[in-house]
Amino acid sequence: MTDPMALVPPDLLERVVRGWRDMSTRLVQMGRDRPEGDRGVFVNPAAERGSTVLFSSLEAMDRAGHGRYGPELIYGAMGSPIQHRLEAVIAEIEGGTHAQVVPSGLAACTLPLLAYLQAGDHCLLSDSVYGPTRRFADRVLRRFGVDVTYFPPMATETELQALVRPDTRLVFAESPGSHSFEVQDIPMLGRLAARAGARLVVDNTWGIGLFNPFAHGAHVSVQALTKYAAGHSDTIIGAVTVASDADWRPLRDTAIQAGQTAGPDDCWLTLRGLRTMGARLERQAATALGLALWLQSRPEVHRVLHPALPSCPGHEYWARDFSGASSLFGVVFDAGFTTADMTAMIDGLQHFGIGASWGGYESLVLPTTGGISRSCLSVTGAGPACRLHVGLEAGGLLVDDLARGLDGMSAARAGRGTD
Ligand SMILES: *Cc1c(COP(=O)(O)O)cnc(C)c1O
Repeated sequence: MTDPMALVPPDLLERVVRGWRDMSTRLVQMGRDRPEGDRGVFVNPAAERGSTVLFSSLEAMDRAGHGRYGPELIYGAMGSPIQHRLEAVIAEIEGGTHAQVVPSGLAACTLPLLAYLQAGDHCLLSDSVYGPTRRFADRVLRRFGVDVTYFPPMATETELQALVRPDTRLVFAESPGSHSFEVQDIPMLGRLAARAGARLVVDNTWGIGLFNPFAHGAHVSVQALTKYAAGHSDTIIGAVTVASDADWRPLRDTAIQAGQTAGPDDCWLTLRGLRTMGARLERQAATALGLALWLQSRPEVHRVLHPALPSCPGHEYWARDFSGASSLFGVVFDAGFTTADMTAMIDGLQHFGIGASWGGYESLVLPTTGGISRSCLSVTGAGPACRLHVGLEAGGLLVDDLARGLDGMSAARAGRGTD
């Protein structure tokens, strides 16, 4: 069995896993009750299910309604105790002050667009945003009179300034892009948004706990908690975090108006998943780095899109702004390979599941080409590309699996005589 960790320089490994290790203690302790006096408590807070909340009087019910911006219990659709507990934990992990938990990562992407934009506004979105976020902007925002422009994720400040209009009210970034992995210069986007009087929203799913959007000029952070937070590929859930009352009130109002809430069992699973996120990712990120370096040494590979490696666009922003790396990265193959070569390789893998999403404890692979629309950039610029999500399996097994697949790709190319 090839040990991919033998390829990893110790200082780079430390740089990639440090953030996960640093957050582990907090993840274990946050959002729990402490025993007091003679009162014992369960380690894990329980999920209380409920729709109707009973009050002692109409006046008490009325007072509770005024607390809709806080964790008051009002009605099940406005949140449950376990949801409010999860919200407090997410706000702390993200570095904000308030979080709204919503029923999916996609709902977390669309809620700020609904909350902060109105007919006649203009919105700038990074070309690398999650596909369904783009579809929402193209099909729903435009239908409601919001104009949408996409920008290349690596655009300079001058190029971006030329796209800003007097009616630009929101800039949406995803860093790194979850298929093409460009790490964006968020502080620069923050300055741009501030000059325009617009809000900067960042989809921070890849960088949960490793990147604090609010310390880098963003107003809103979006999380698909479905991924690393829930961590077991069994829950769909999301969160939107802000760092000021001015950003919180419209967001919370829209969540209530649109009926965006998550079920208590999903909140409970997510809070439970978060306890081990640091430990899972310390291991997963290390294996992913080993695989990325091993892939980089293979003749079939044109470019590895891992933010901790200089071959990834925006690596310098990762090095400047992130306290670690997660376990999702891209691989671009040489131009001599066909999509059919890559498809055969992927179909033959034994230890990588084929499926959408990521962030669980298991390894996954997905082609990057196809299904991804771009208006400003080609996704790969070379041969076919795929995305790997690295789980908790032994790194050596994963490398041997990929080695068999890549040998097969090379043999197919050699058979065509184009090598
Ligand atoms: C998966 C994902 C989402 C959407 O999350 P769901 O819970 O699947 O709706 C949003 N943004 C990014 C970057 C994602 O990877």
